[in-house]
Amino acid sequence: MLIVVDPTRVARRLRVRGVVQGVGFRPFVYRYARSLGLAGWVRNDGGGVEIEVQGSEPLVEAFTRGLVAEAPPLARIDLIEPEVIPPDDGRRDFAILPSAGGTVATAIGPDVGVCSACLAELFDPADRRWRYPFINCTHCGPRYTITRSLPYDRARTSMAGFELCLACAAEYAHPGDRRFHAEPNACPACGPRLSLHEPHGVPALARDAIAETLRRIRLGEIVAIKSLGGFHLACDAANPEAVARLRARKQRPHRPLALMLANLASAAPLARLDGPSAATLESPERPIVLLDKQAGFDARLPGIAPGLDEVGIMLPYTPLHYLLFHEAAGRPAGTAWLDEAQPLALVMTSANPHGEPLVQGNDEAFERLAEIADVLLMHDRDIVVRCDDSVLRLRADLPVGRGEAAGAGVQFLRRARGFTPLAMPLREAGPPVLAFGAHLKTTLCMARGREAFLSQHIGNLNSPAACAALDEAAEHLQTILSVRPAAVAHDAHPDYYSTRAALEMAARLGVPAVAVQHHHAHIAAVCAEHSLDGPLLGLAADGVGLGTDGMPWGGELLQVDGGEFRRLGHLAPLPLPGGDRAAREPWRMACAVLHALGHADEAARRFAHQPSVAQVLDMLARGTRCPPATSLGRCFDAAAGLLGLCDTMTFEGQAAMLLETAARGYGEALPLPGAHHIDHRSPDGPSVLNLYPLFKQLLDETTPARGAAHFHASLVDGLVHWIADAAEATGLRRVVLAGGCLHNRVLAVGLRHRLTARGLAVFEAQHVPPGDGGIALGQAWVARAQLMKGSAS
Ligand SMILES: [Zn+2]
Ligand SMILES: [Zn+2]
Ligand SMILES: [Zn+2]
Repeated sequence: MLIVVDPTRVARRLRVRGVVQGVGFRPFVYRYARSLGLAGWVRNDGGGVEIEVQGSEPLVEAFTRGLVAEAPPLARIDLIEPEVIPPDDGRRDFAILPSAGGTVATAIGPDVGVCSACLAELFDPADRRWRYPFINCTHCGPRYTITRSLPYDRARTSMAGFELCLACAAEYAHPGDRRFHAEPNACPACGPRLSLHEPHGVPALARDAIAETLRRIRLGEIVAIKSLGGFHLACDAANPEAVARLRARKQRPHRPLALMLANLASAAPLARLDGPSAATLESPERPIVLLDKQAGFDARLPGIAPGLDEVGIMLPYTPLHYLLFHEAAGRPAGTAWLDEAQPLALVMTSANPHGEPLVQGNDEAFERLAEIADVLLMHDRDIVVRCDDSVLRLRADLPVGRGEAAGAGVQFLRRARGFTPLAMPLREAGPPVLAFGAHLKTTLCMARGREAFLSQHIGNLNSPAACAALDEAAEHLQTILSVRPAAVAHDAHPDYYSTRAALEMAARLGVPAVAVQHHHAHIAAVCAEHSLDGPLLGLAADGVGLGTDGMPWGGELLQVDGGEFRRLGHLAPLPLPGGDRAAREPWRMACAVLHALGHADEAARRFAHQPSVAQVLDMLARGTRCPPATSLGRCFDAAAGLLGLCDTMTFEGQAAMLLETAARGYGEALPLPGAHHIDHRSPDGPSVLNLYPLFKQLLDETTPARGAAHFHASLVDGLVHWIADAAEATGLRRVVLAGGCLHNRVLAVGLRHRLTARGLAVFEAQHVPPGDGGIALGQAWVARAQLMKGSAS
């Protein structure tokens, strides 16, 4: 055969890194290359996707640029490494080649909401997947929660047991099809099926599971629904008795419940939407977005988020969720109804008995939800990995990240479904480290290369089930990332389960274990997220974590420099009467403040309705069982207790949330004069920010909202002066704000605004939660910095 050498022909090998497997990237490359008339091939390799492409130079250049610009919705390209290679003039076509081997370095994609192309089929009565609850394609559907190990292919997922029918297999094999290599591809003939059960697993008598579920919801019953990463409990949000019953059975008297609504048009009358929040609600990740309630919300849907001015809303993300709204709308054909307001509003809350991890398996659901759910809507596709709904908020004053809706920055309160296990990019590479988190809202973090992988939310480690879930997640993270840690990191508290699990893992692997002080880790998490190195100031505004002196800390001003920190200052300590109980009972903190200010009799009078008030005042008088803590979180509790906003909490953070809501309701307030003083004890010792003068001024406040507003304004003022003094003394101009109190918008917005006005650069946690849900990232970052400096034990 005569080969004519074309001198204008060039060839490139492109290595593409990022989330490029299991997201329809190879068929996209195939179609795109063919549309430009280019020759070559594409294949998966251990590091991502490898492409060889050849043709005229302008077209090859256009192709390379277009890879990023035209990539499918779920792909995330971190890097393209191009290499010039000699053209092969025999090649005129473009092909998809079988996968090459190699070490697994590529990231598995997260679970994402059903796409519009699949929705169009779902509601098309002529389509073979009409009303099929497990419809998906390469642009949507489950990934992480069905995957046992990598590389991501069907045999390693919980779809392994469902053999593709001929029609599905043809789609799966055809490069031009939207379902080419869609691993969970399925249809009514070959895929998973729905079933409806009474409690304890008795099959429900129903011709149509969806229709029957909706009927039961309308009767006011509580339905357990098997979703992507676990079960939800759902009920009619407009039925106050059903909501009250759900709260009683879940032992969740006040904690806000999330709502699922059909679309933006249904959400708009209930919550204030703007461009960024609407785009985030509709994003494929489908998080719960915290939004300001519209006036009249509580009259329409009482009991959903009592006492708060925000409500968590999400849109449907599985075909199953959509089918419930479709049924409620009368099973319309087509998708026009998706743009119209739908009256059905569902409470959707994760199905876990009080404080335990998400229910995952069918048998487990029958057993653990028997007393909670009236009926269970389930299916036979296993959930391999638990993953709760993500929760986030948008703040106009926060920086906007790459690929996010302009106008407001994001801040996560819980990072899970839709985002787990997407990597956070790190500034530099280092040894692999597995960090175990703290005790509350636990997540794990594996730092590998230049990436950090946060696990799904595991929750509070108070129950054996939660501890088992932590162990399971630690194993799973190592499996799917195929990496063994060179060190583990944990909180400095010796009694946390996470610490014990980390030490056990370290012993088993024969690697060092690095204890990281709680607030150092909080600040370090923000350093990791924003690629900050070198010395900077960090404010840890937190609940309680163990300090290096063995005392409970939580209002700390630290100078952080990589793996090391110095305590520049702390809050004046407040005694915690009864230790941990004080963290749940703000009235005890109010007693502590009143006692310290010399008003023990006033405390006895105000809290006479508390059976143990005399005992608490006695402990305070004698100083027994009253560990002094420098926690800012407890200051919020004390203020809420003093203002009569919350005596006893039924969920973590309740007092601070009620205080914040009261302050926001009041509006702008000026700091009270003389509300704080800063004590510089010695040039080298820590400075002390004393808030007792502020508490003293709250004692006689008769309007709780005004008191709450003054408390916030004065607290911000005190913290700003304290930080500014430290900036002056150290010459450091960067300030990290971290810790659970940063969930409070009045505090966070106020601090950012005023510190920025003083010319300081302010950084907050955004893509990991500022509280303990993000602490593992900071632990990993600190341990790594210490290992690389050779200072780890
Ligand atoms: Zn789809
Ligand atoms: Zn099929
Ligand atoms: Zn903390």
